[in-house]
Amino acid sequence: MNPNQSSTPGGAVVSRETAARLAAQTVGPVLLPGEDGYDVECASYNLAVSHQPALVVGVAGVADVQAAVDFAAEQGLPVAMLATGHSALPTAGAVLINTRRMDGVTIDAEARTARVEAGVQWQQVVEAAGKHGLAPLNGASPSVGVVGYTLGGGLSPIGRTFGFAADQVRRVELVTADGRLRVATATEEPDLFWAVLGGKGNFGVVTALEFNLFPVSHIYGGGLFFTADRAAEVFNAWGRWTAGVPDEMNSSIALLQLPPLPEVPEPLRGQMVVHVRIAYVGAAEEGERLVAPLREIAPMLIDSVMEMPYTAIASIHADPPNPIPVQDRSGLLREFTPELVDAIVEHAGPDSGSPLVIFELRHLGGALERRPAAGNASDLQGAAFSLYAVGLGGPNEAEAIHAHLTRVLAAIAPWSTGRLFVNFLTAADAAPEQFAQAYLPETYQRLVAIKASYDPTNLFRATPDIAAA
Ligand SMILES: Cc1cc2nc3c(=O)[nH]c(=O)nc-3n(C[C@H](O)[C@H](O)[C@H](O)COP(=O)(O)OP(=O)(O)OC[C@H]3O[C@@H](n4cnc5c(N)ncnc54)[C@H](O)[C@@H]3O)c2cc1C
Repeated sequence: MNPNQSSTPGGAVVSRETAARLAAQTVGPVLLPGEDGYDVECASYNLAVSHQPALVVGVAGVADVQAAVDFAAEQGLPVAMLATGHSALPTAGAVLINTRRMDGVTIDAEARTARVEAGVQWQQVVEAAGKHGLAPLNGASPSVGVVGYTLGGGLSPIGRTFGFAADQVRRVELVTADGRLRVATATEEPDLFWAVLGGKGNFGVVTALEFNLFPVSHIYGGGLFFTADRAAEVFNAWGRWTAGVPDEMNSSIALLQLPPLPEVPEPLRGQMVVHVRIAYVGAAEEGERLVAPLREIAPMLIDSVMEMPYTAIASIHADPPNPIPVQDRSGLLREFTPELVDAIVEHAGPDSGSPLVIFELRHLGGALERRPAAGNASDLQGAAFSLYAVGLGGPNEAEAIHAHLTRVLAAIAPWSTGRLFVNFLTAADAAPEQFAQAYLPETYQRLVAIKASYDPTNLFRATPDIAAA
């Protein structure tokens, strides 16, 4: 190969001279494979997916994004985005736009809104809003990117109370395939606004989002941990309990296989446990009354449910904040029955030999079913519970983990809605027919039509790709 060129497994080749033309227009770095800093710029939360783009641009602002998009269009290369790499999809051969330097957060306490730039992670917003007694509809993990999460719907640990994060967006600023910076709201470019909220990275590079905040300074929340040998009882009791709780009560349940690490508290260290997560938006006394039946199910290893500042919300799921190799799949369930619990325990419970470290069900419904008038492309289509299952491992373990994930999904298929949640789509769901499962047929058709109008050459195809269908 010519030493002045770089290629990637995607086959795309960008010469150093061509890359230098882009670098002359950007404030942030432009890096080719093999150059110092390329690996750091491409690093992802999910260590199982290695980004190997033809070129990576560490954008410092809107002008850098426009230069990178124009460059990709000129070179006939797809554009991919990376904020944190929580849902890393292969990006070989693409122009990868890393947004992490765009980290501005502005809170308007009076209007109860936040404006965040493309690279912001949730904990930044939670803390900035918390200073004013306000809360965003953040994700469970503190290090998930605000933009990627919100464009995929955004299912918050307090989502049953306030709805999807996407439903609270007031304004999207994005650079579209023609290199223009556009503003999309419910009244300005309304089709684009509808499509990008659910259509993920298919419509452009979002440079900033403005969304509503809620007056929540404290919640009654935390975790109840039970031994895994009581999994069937705990799952069944939790499922029955969810049927009677108000929208202010948010909860999920997970089978966890915890590592034998010093940072894991002693009764949980190296154990498989059942973790019931609670986030009640309301007075602690009422939260305590509602949670009481769960405390009666079986003896608990740990009970950390108490009044807490909203800024501690990430402690409820306690997702690993640092990069890990994730192999994951997901599903949406119509209902919860004792037979479903039998299937879960058989395939993910203590005697199943399961390699999964997390098998999680989240209780949906409530405000998640009340959609905004303008609507958007994100929808869980009547699902009552979401399922997310994770194994830890790189390429060597991937086959065994995915074989197990496939068996688990087959076992719970009778309860599945047959659809998927956009944010929990993984590399294993990237095929167009699987991506289409995240939408109602009419939503998908409208997305395809809007895509054709805003991105006729399918520049934004290194993302779950709407146009490929
Ligand atoms: C540990 C963990 C916990 C999670 N918890 C939740 C949760 O509670 N609720 C929930 O809904 N989801 C959750 N998710 C899923 C998460 O929301 C998605 O993985 C989301 O895509 C992450 O966005 P990111 O920017 O952090 O990731 P990245 O991998 O950096 O980006 C993912 C995708 O987002 C899009 N994107 C990112 N930036 C831009 C941009 N500027 N413009 C346009 N498109 C962009 C692109 O399509 C990109 O491919 C979780 C995932 C993990 C691994």
